[in-house]
Amino acid sequence: MGTQRDAGPVAAGSAAHANGTRRLLIGGRLVEAERTYPSLNPATGKVIGHAPDAAPAQAEAAVAAARRAFDTTAWPTDVDLRVRCLEQLYDALVEHKEELRELTIADTGSPRIVTHGAGLDEPLEIVRYYAGLLREHSFTEDLGENEVRGRRNRRWVEKEAAGVVAAITAYNYPNQLALAKLAPALAAGCTVVLKGAPDTPLVTLALAELIAEHTDIPAGVVNVLTSAGAATGEVLTTHPDVDVVTFTGSTATGRKIMAAASGTVKRVFLELGGKSAMVVLDDADLDLTAMAAAFTICSHAGQGCAITSRLLVQRGQHDAMVERVAAQLAGVRYGDPRDANTYMGPLISERQREKVDGMVRRAVEGGAKLVTGGEKVDPGFFYTPTLLSGVDPDSEIAQEEVFGPVLAVIPYDDEDDAVRIANNSAYGLSGAVHSASEARAIAVARRIRTGTLSINGGNYFAPDVPFGGFKQSGIGREMGVAGLDEFLERKAFATIVP
Ligand code: NAD
Repeated sequence: MGTQRDAGPVAAGSAAHANGTRRLLIGGRLVEAERTYPSLNPATGKVIGHAPDAAPAQAEAAVAAARRAFDTTAWPTDVDLRVRCLEQLYDALVEHKEELRELTIADTGSPRIVTHGAGLDEPLEIVRYYAGLLREHSFTEDLGENEVRGRRNRRWVEKEAAGVVAAITAYNYPNQLALAKLAPALAAGCTVVLKGAPDTPLVTLALAELIAEHTDIPAGVVNVLTSAGAATGEVLTTHPDVDVVTFTGSTATGRKIMAAASGTVKRVFLELGGKSAMVVLDDADLDLTAMAAAFTICSHAGQGCAITSRLLVQRGQHDAMVERVAAQLAGVRYGDPRDANTYMGPLISERQREKVDGMVRRAVEGGAKLVTGGEKVDPGFFYTPTLLSGVDPDSEIAQEEVFGPVLAVIPYDDEDDAVRIANNSAYGLSGAVHSASEARAIAVARRIRTGTLSINGGNYFAPDVPFGGFKQSGIGREMGVAGLDEFLERKAFATIVP
């Protein structure tokens, strides 16, 4: 592990932050809150800045501003304005990318290498993708004529903005999660109140500054809040002036949000947890698959919803595979996330580390074998790459999301058994299948009930690919054309043909 230095002050965004406190964006103005709370660098445990702890009244003000902007400005109807503003936002993000990178590394603990992917560089492209899609997207659908009781009708459908959107995000990939909601919602013509995650607020607030200072997005179209607790989010999910809630976070919170939103029958979009399986068919290359399994579970220290945290291996190959994965995990470099050679950074908080460690201890008590890892490393909230073998597919470690670098190896008997175990989960977010035969891998993947599947290492994650879950991993799809649809209402028209 590399030695750790103090993170020092981080000046991302266009404004300097002498006192380390960033501001909320409400009704087009960057404003402070009465109270602030500290944001820690998870690699050092030290305070790197302060975030406004928005009061419920500020959440109310943000909703009122978004409602006003939706009801009184040209935003929902002026496509050219929206294209221009999305392009400005993309340019501002690119211009400030390196500042955002340092802030993202410090606030989230994701290693520099992660920021070159889903941590930062890839999410910026989501904004460009939706600006491009908006330029060519047709918001009307001609249904032609029909005849009812002797009269002919001409029918068509127009798609229009769904209204005021509350966007609530998880802590792990704040740029990805914010932009995968903001860009399609804005492209659709909606107005937005974005609430960042309590643990990684500074990145989300930096996005707010770029929007306020570098785009012509009208006042109130985007509002950004951060808060230490859940009260702000609760205002957003129950407020009668909010039409849509788009949420990324745990399944437990997703259930609460769905219930809260039911009082006003809001449209609810949920990106929730996962417990995805990597299925290694008996003809797969074990060395290559072991490498894929090890590096996937350590990506952002396992804090990814779509990470394959269950490794399903044919029983006769179990021990050979465990040996190979352990060897690969031993080669994972963890430590200072600023170092370009670091592959794995820390967990987000001591609380998260305690949760991960508790699950590993209980797995071992329940009969799984701890092959490697299971150690806390200080300073910061590091947890060593961990491998558990011989895991019972019904045990807690095989059923519950860990959100840490903990891989559970589960033996299976035959292909049907592998599919049964892969589907033996309340979740259905993602998965992977490895085989010497691509056709065989695809056939198995088709039997797995998840929203995304990687075949022999294929990468499905891109702005034009719909992402989301089956079962309790969520409702709806983010990104791609499907992601735009989440923020559109359909209005059907008919006229009499003379
Ligand atoms: P979390 O559920 O604890 O919090 C997510 C957000 O919800 C935060 O902004 C939080 O303040 C807010 N919140 C909490 N209670 C609320 C309430 N009652 N009403 C309104 N808002 C409330 O999740 P987390 O710990 O930040 O993130 C980890 C989870 O996110 C994991 O389960 C992970 O799988 C999931 N996740 C899913 C995806 C996906 O695309 N499916 C992506 C990233 C993370």
